[in-house]
Amino acid sequence: MQKQPTPTDAKGATDRSRQRYTLLLPGIPVSSNRGALGWSTVALIDTGGRRVLFDTGSYGDRSLLIERLQALSLDPQALDAVFISHLHYDHCQNIDLFENIPIFVSERELSYVLEGEYRERRDPYVPATMILSLKDRFQTIPDGSALFPDVSVVALPGHTPGQAGLFLSREKILIAGDGVKNAWEFANRMAPPAFFSQAAALNNYDWVRAHAVEIVPGHDRPFRLQADGTTTYLTAAADVTLTLFPDPGLDPKAIRLY
Ligand SMILES: [Zn+2]
Repeated sequence: MQKQPTPTDAKGATDRSRQRYTLLLPGIPVSSNRGALGWSTVALIDTGGRRVLFDTGSYGDRSLLIERLQALSLDPQALDAVFISHLHYDHCQNIDLFENIPIFVSERELSYVLEGEYRERRDPYVPATMILSLKDRFQTIPDGSALFPDVSVVALPGHTPGQAGLFLSREKILIAGDGVKNAWEFANRMAPPAFFSQAAALNNYDWVRAHAVEIVPGHDRPFRLQADGTTTYLTAAADVTLTLFPDPGLDPKAIRLY
């Protein structure tokens, strides 16, 4: 189903979309039998001079996130808002870096955590203690409303009940969070792991196909939807290298993902 990637630049955006979003941390579509790696997409949306951070990554992403913000001369407190797709650790764990700016999340997602529904649904990825301690920082925003002009909130429930994306309506770009985790699942119509509803997660794909032309997944690089329904990556694969420290008598071993 996938067409060949069209390499552009390593920073991860096409010329057109660079005006609208920048990938600070690329989402990586990988899982392991040693638990979740959680390498999620962190994107900076630029809309009419306003800058919104979409998701924050996890503690494992923290130093790299700070580095990327510094490289762009961006003071975290000078952003206009942070938008959190859903309250899993790999998307929200760095919100405390952004002290004086609004942090938006859907009302359904916040109640999922504050009312303990995540426990009933056996969702192990919610950093509940952290969210409870910062709960006054969150502002909720209804589905369909505009965060800023041309940037609207889209409910994409399924993975969690309140998972939401941002839709850049002028360019028809959807920053999806885990409403679309990766191109492989989307192209093969496989739902992401669903703590709320697998059927709802698949329905989201229909909405995406009907409305978006470019999708930024929660754990993959951006791709474009072609008229024939296939997908084409818009950026080259990120250079991700694992370093394995083997038996002390041997040299460390580099394992490149791509
Ligand atoms: Zn998630």
